[in-house]
Amino acid sequence: MAIWNLGSINIDHVYRMEHLPLPGETLAANSYSVGLGGKGANQSIAAALAGGVTQHLGAMGEADDWVIHRLQAAGVDTDNIQRLSDNVTGHAIILLDSAAENSIIIHPGANRALETSALEKALRPIAREDTLLIQNETNCQIAAARIARATGARVIYSAAPFDLDALRDVMAHVSILAMNAGEAEQLFAAVPGDLPVQGLLITRGAEGVEYRDLEGDRVYRHPAFPVDPIDTTGAGDTFAGYFAAALDRGDAIPDALRLASAAAALKVTRKGAGDAIPSLDEVRDFLS
Ligand code: ATP
Repeated sequence: MAIWNLGSINIDHVYRMEHLPLPGETLAANSYSVGLGGKGANQSIAAALAGGVTQHLGAMGEADDWVIHRLQAAGVDTDNIQRLSDNVTGHAIILLDSAAENSIIIHPGANRALETSALEKALRPIAREDTLLIQNETNCQIAAARIARATGARVIYSAAPFDLDALRDVMAHVSILAMNAGEAEQLFAAVPGDLPVQGLLITRGAEGVEYRDLEGDRVYRHPAFPVDPIDTTGAGDTFAGYFAAALDRGDAIPDALRLASAAAALKVTRKGAGDAIPSLDEVRDFLS
């Protein structure tokens, strides 16, 4: 039981403003902050805070040691993060408006320059009872998913940012496909038939979540917990990390959905991404 998360590491530069800029518009931000983000780093932090033994697989530049320290502080094993001397750490420019809506530009940098042989070596110890998490902000997903499936490990693919070709290529090696409502709509429009995965997780923001067990032909739903949202950045990642950790330790689907929904609800009440993911104690308090 361990979680291997092949995922992006980004430094988030966050600008708050009344409304998101329109094309051609120049706006002054009301505030600026910098923090750790990237779907991969967020998901590793969430999985580790949820109690999962979590190994991050990814790449970053040689500077930015604080990023490693931040991941370690959450309990993430960083031994297999590649430090690339000829690249920069991925970063994101995040614009947030007064209604907590966001608009994001990402520069992938090292996230898309992982060395395949080092990744394959890092994944050698993965075992049948483990979980591999992947998403769409790095390279090497197919190589990683193949290795994991060959051992019988569970592979969860968080299909974001959405890319139909990437999804088609990796789908045969995936056990659970995780998407938000918009991504699911795009997938179903393009691939109307049966999907070759065991489960489909569709998060619907304030409308909650559903999990379709395609093998058992059952649908599980969990409503979103009612909270006042301040910043929805990283809600999906918090959900994915908590959900993966819950399944990895053997929780049943309804329990995993409840725990992950509570963690994500708490996250949206806080500003930030990786730094704003709640601990398991906080989530349990919220649920009690
Ligand atoms: P993001 O890209 O902002 O990280 P996402 O689009 O991947 O998020 P969502 O479907 O918006 O993912 O949200 C994931 C989960 O977070 C939801 O299923 C829900 O459990 C929780 N959540 C999101 N928004 C809210 C909200 N306003 N109130 C309560 N829970 C929320």
